[in-house]
Amino acid sequence: MILLEKITMDEFKKYLKKTKTIVFPFGTIEEHGSHLPLFTDSLIIQESLYIAAKKKKFFLAPIIHYGVCTTTKEHPGTISIRPETLRLLSADLVIESYKKGLRNFLLISGHGGSLHMSALKETAESLINHLENVKIAVFSPYDILYKELSAIVETPNDSHAGELETSMVLYLTPELVKGRAAAEYPQIPKPFIVKDKIKYWRGGVWGDPSKATIKKGERAIKLIADTIISVIDEIEKTSF
Ligand SMILES: [Zn+2]
Repeated sequence: MILLEKITMDEFKKYLKKTKTIVFPFGTIEEHGSHLPLFTDSLIIQESLYIAAKKKKFFLAPIIHYGVCTTTKEHPGTISIRPETLRLLSADLVIESYKKGLRNFLLISGHGGSLHMSALKETAESLINHLENVKIAVFSPYDILYKELSAIVETPNDSHAGELETSMVLYLTPELVKGRAAAEYPQIPKPFIVKDKIKYWRGGVWGDPSKATIKKGERAIKLIADTIISVIDEIEKTSF
């Protein structure tokens, strides 16, 4: 496992001969109902990446714990950043690691929020035109595995802090799951952008946490880890 923060500069040079691939993980500090920790998105993607990194050699950068949150922004505990902050930060990380010889970049997010993902994608769209010989992938498991992950859970339209995320946190760190919040779906009136989001989404849960199990969480985490490995295999062997 090549953890960027733990290797020396000599080891960096040595590993660079073996791989030009780096993964930057992105998470959030965001409410996840009354029962899950604020770093749920970070935890899920980080642990999936550790599993992947044990089987496959790539540089794994430290996670960025802060992301762009919208509907959860007003809830206690959420510390959001602006999309432009994320665009600048992610661009700097790719540009600086490009200068150090890396060529395949994966920006993998444990948070699937639309403004958050679009900020990362905007960075990638701009950099693909400015840097020579780079390949970039930007995704969250909820983009590319929507069907497969939905098939693991019973709750229809399950999402934030619901059956799936609760199952995964139960599998990874059961001691951090504090009971179960009630089933809930956000009631924000469409197509409006409302200021008082808590009024329409009291509990901050989207789905039914009571259906969560360790087994479902294990299946989901393993699926995410395997999928990350296949995306890395593909980025390394394909010229786009
Ligand atoms: Zn989440």
